[in-house]
Amino acid sequence: MNQMIFITVCYIVASVLFIIGLKRMSSLVTARKANQLSAIGMLIAIVATLLTKGMMEWQWIVLGLAVGTAIGILAATKVAMTAMPQMVGLLNGSGGLASLIVGWSSYHYQPNASLLTTISTYLAILIGGVTFTGSIMAWVKLEEKFITGKPILFAGQKIINALILGALLWGGIIFCSQPANHYPLFIIIMILSLILGILAVIPIGGADMPVVICLLNSYSGMAGAATGFVIINSMLIVIGSLVGASGIILTNIMCKAMNRSFTNVLFSGFGSEVKKKKTDIKGEAKPIGVKDAYYVLEAARSVVFVPGYGMAVAQAQHVVRELGEILENNGAEVRYAIHPVAGRMPGHMNILLAEADVSYDQLFEMDAINPILDTTDVVVVIGANDVVNPAARHDKSSPIYGMPILNVDKAKTVFVLKRSMRSGFAGIENELFYYDNTHMIFGDAKETLQALIGEFKSV
Ligand code: NDP
Repeated sequence: MNQMIFITVCYIVASVLFIIGLKRMSSLVTARKANQLSAIGMLIAIVATLLTKGMMEWQWIVLGLAVGTAIGILAATKVAMTAMPQMVGLLNGSGGLASLIVGWSSYHYQPNASLLTTISTYLAILIGGVTFTGSIMAWVKLEEKFITGKPILFAGQKIINALILGALLWGGIIFCSQPANHYPLFIIIMILSLILGILAVIPIGGADMPVVICLLNSYSGMAGAATGFVIINSMLIVIGSLVGASGIILTNIMCKAMNRSFTNVLFSGFGSEVKKKKTDIKGEAKPIGVKDAYYVLEAARSVVFVPGYGMAVAQAQHVVRELGEILENNGAEVRYAIHPVAGRMPGHMNILLAEADVSYDQLFEMDAINPILDTTDVVVVIGANDVVNPAARHDKSSPIYGMPILNVDKAKTVFVLKRSMRSGFAGIENELFYYDNTHMIFGDAKETLQALIGEFKSV
């Protein structure tokens, strides 16, 4: 077969595998296989691309492959499950940086390219640059090592951002009209894009980070698609478009889950308000021991587990499942309630519970579980905080007002497993902890659950 036809067929097969893979990602049952299908598609795409005539600078390809593989294996094996969102952030950033570098080098090869290639180069630099530094900023915020996750706001911020965006558009028009004469402008566009990435992400904070991660994921795809037009690679255009489009859909889903509009997320500086003080909340938190909690659970006929970020930190997913099985054997109906932004990345809780072999039909999304929470005997909140804060429902002064939450406070009894009274990612006090029907069980979630299992086994 002619080499060109062979490569085209490979690209079509790879594209089909990507599309099927994406489709199957929408269900937990098929997601693992979907990932494998997409990985096979990527392998076919890479091999086909390497077979392209004139592509064979083997020493560079082998070097890049070796370095990339080593970093990938090291990162994937070393990364803690709790640091997965940061890793996703960095991977988005790498995609953006790659597009920026390809766009930059392509300019050196062909400064006098066609208008389409020049516009694509400009977009690869612009979107790639914003994605790279925006993702690094998202990583820094999620890591909370150098700065907190809170919004960073300053006077005139929106005007500065608008001016930079305006300069980028104006510079883009001049650059695209005569690319060969405007290398200094090209560099300025690149630097401004990198600055814009930082400035666009620093005002976003608290519970809005999931939307940012999805959006940056989408940007990395768009930058990749633009790069595909630069180097005339149809595979890159297809993959970039798929990532770009699915990222935007996911962004939209996350916005809906948080009852916030896209512009509100990007420009409102969520969480910058003065946080609700403890003194505003009536009642006292009521700690309870494991033994007393056991008696309540032992008598319960219906139990709902609500996992949150703390379950990921404690790596408590396996013991949760074990306790769930014990409760079922004891005659209780056991369900798991999943909030769309629980944890630190979309689907975080689903992944952990699937890893622990929790049956899919026991997982309930927010809209499905909320109507039955008021007839539930016991809700066990495992390291969740923001996603069960009732202030979101009624307190107009709360920064999370309007965000749909799991209405766990409606249950007859609520146990909250966490280590202290500290706030969650959004940095706001949780009035649930002071409600009459809520009892705090302080300690590491895994240790508490193990102690509860111990109580069941000792009788
Ligand atoms: P939160 O961040 O609100 O709260 C987690 C709680 O877990 C903390 O209050 C902490 O309390 C507790 N915790 C931590 N370690 C342990 C442990 N070892 N054992 C027991 N408890 C522990 O988590 P939620 O899941 O409720 O909410 C997620 C938040 O993160 C939302 O604000 C969301 O918007 C945001 N976010 C979500 C992303 C996503 O895509 N899902 C991405 C980025 C941000 P203590 O320290 O007292 O133990």
